[in-house]
Amino acid sequence: MRDVPAYRAVGLSGDDLADPLAALSRFPLVDKTDVRDRLADFCSDDIDPDRCRFGTTSGTTGVPLKVIHDLEYIASEYAAALRRNRESGLPDRRRILVPMKTVPLPWTEYESPAKGYSLVAEFGTGAFEDDPAELLERVRRFDPDVIYGHPSDCVVLAQAVRAADGGVDADAGVTPKLVATFGEYMSAGVREYLESTFTTARVVDYYAMYEFGNIAVQCLHGVYHVEEKVYVEAVGSDGLPVAPGISGEIVVTGLTNDVMPLIRYRTGDLGAVKDITCRCGKQGQAITDLVGRGSGVVSFADGTRVRLSGVTRILRRYPLLRFQIARESESAFTVRIQPAPDFEDDMLPGMRTLLSRELAGCSVAVRAVGPAEFLPDSRRKTVDYLDLREAH
Ligand SMILES: [Zn+2]
Repeated sequence: MRDVPAYRAVGLSGDDLADPLAALSRFPLVDKTDVRDRLADFCSDDIDPDRCRFGTTSGTTGVPLKVIHDLEYIASEYAAALRRNRESGLPDRRRILVPMKTVPLPWTEYESPAKGYSLVAEFGTGAFEDDPAELLERVRRFDPDVIYGHPSDCVVLAQAVRAADGGVDADAGVTPKLVATFGEYMSAGVREYLESTFTTARVVDYYAMYEFGNIAVQCLHGVYHVEEKVYVEAVGSDGLPVAPGISGEIVVTGLTNDVMPLIRYRTGDLGAVKDITCRCGKQGQAITDLVGRGSGVVSFADGTRVRLSGVTRILRRYPLLRFQIARESESAFTVRIQPAPDFEDDMLPGMRTLLSRELAGCSVAVRAVGPAEFLPDSRRKTVDYLDLREAH
């Protein structure tokens, strides 16, 4: 950690490492915006660019971020995926079907070294909206072992399977062994819908972030077991750890990325952490009551429901450092944006029109603000959606 400027001030000595948890508690919490604004400070001085890869997070918390990993980290991620695969009884060269919101992505197949040279088929869920029978036919031909996607995208696929087949039974010819979801809060209703559509599959949710890869993975009993490569805490609104089993903001420390170690990193997600011995045989940290970034859906009095992901997808097309959507009333939203240098004011009217259309015709005010003008909620610092109607 001495090689990483952001942590130098903590001033750990060798003796401190005798009690690693006490040493960890001396580190300040790190926010996404800290990392975005001072990227170089969070990177090791010993970095070898030839042995590193960088990527950008999806920005689902409203703060897109560059993250650097080295080859050892990537190799350990690949190895962990292979090990999990063996444990699940799936073939190494599995067939993975990936429904994606990205429209208009046509049906695309490729072999992925990162997934043990599995065959991957991706498609935009919008591309087959009008022709579920064609989609079902392609899915049957591909014969996936695994369906892997955001819960809402897996639901679109499940709807197509049901619509094309006029019902759900073994004759649908779609017999995955695993439906693995990530990236959104998985509600009990969605789980039930997926389980009753893909009756041959286990439905497992992965709690993951690009910064760390998988943080916790559900076992057969639905428990989110924390991966060995991270240490997880839950903190209260005062930033101090809460007691085991009490809900707070999830804070993650990565243990395997030496080139850009993220220590006590605020996720913006809510959950409780405790040590458990599970019926599945696993011991150690588990996350309970995991609530991702809200329900992911905006509901209106007339029954209309709008997926928040569609709104954030519009915002991510623009050069923004951060955004936050606040619902002021039944039909009025304020979107706070922190523009990036490339942002031009004449982008605003088009943005407002797209947002209003996506939000069922509601009035949308877009305000360019400074970093201090984003609203915190009572428990989290970084939040991309707030419902302010209760507060009024
Ligand atoms: Zn378990």
